[in-house]
Amino acid sequence: MQQSIKRILIMNNQNIAGKVVVITGASSGLGEATARLLSSEGATVVLAARRTERINALAEEIKGKGGQALAVSTDVTNRAQVKELVDKAVATYGRVDVMLNNAGLMPLAPLDQLKTDEWDQMIDVNLKGVLNGIAAALPHMQAQKSGHFINVSSVYGHKLGPDATVYCATKFAVRALSEGLRQEVKPYNIRTTVISPGAVATELLEHISDEKIQAETKGFVDQIAVPADTFARMVAFAINEPANVDVNEILFRPTAQPV
Ligand code: NDP
Repeated sequence: MQQSIKRILIMNNQNIAGKVVVITGASSGLGEATARLLSSEGATVVLAARRTERINALAEEIKGKGGQALAVSTDVTNRAQVKELVDKAVATYGRVDVMLNNAGLMPLAPLDQLKTDEWDQMIDVNLKGVLNGIAAALPHMQAQKSGHFINVSSVYGHKLGPDATVYCATKFAVRALSEGLRQEVKPYNIRTTVISPGAVATELLEHISDEKIQAETKGFVDQIAVPADTFARMVAFAINEPANVDVNEILFRPTAQPV
């Protein structure tokens, strides 16, 4: 019985095995969980983040379980580094099937605190980082005549939340550029997915510099957040659909999340 269930699961995830998936923000949270799940389904994962020791350790863990993984230290705000990341994936494995533009941060604060460095950071990582990922992977996918961009927005890419104006602006923008990308890459047989998670338990709230806002947000999120592999399953679903099915948008929340 157990074996037949396992066989069904493997058969159902047949479109993940063998794919080369580049994941930004793979050193923690959603990216890390996705790397683990996709590699367990037979994907080759290329792990990108600035904390090199973390992605190296994750790559070793995956290889130790018989998977294929490559860690490439990358700052997504640096366009040349993101190009090197994708070029390295293609040089090593021959192609790039999925570009998961996931790296991001959410230092919540009201505008009148004038935390302009944090505004710049969010625009550089959450928005320009995604554009850098598109710029790096698109030429390869055009040449392959196949590929899949998965960009990470948020529930805050659909609605405004307290102290989240700039964060929301970046996540609304990710949805806008994902839809534009979807329309433009039709001639190249490229798929595009934007995933908008609700509260998921990760390190995201650690970067809120205002202690009161951080404590309040943690108090709310800790009660309802779902684990990071929830997101990983959404990614796996979108990748696993047959090549002629383009899953364009996924919005999910914890069942207990009211807003
Ligand atoms: P984490 O803080 O756990 O992970 C963020 C990841 O982004 C880390 O791997 C970090 O790696 C990476 N990162 C940040 N800045 C850079 C940079 N300049 N260059 C490369 N990598 C960078 O948070 P999550 O996993 O939750 O966040 C992942 C994405 O999910 C983000 O885009 C976030 O906005 C989005 N999201 C998360 C939700 C949640 O509830 N958790 C809800 C909705 C959306 P390193 O520091 O090593 O570089």
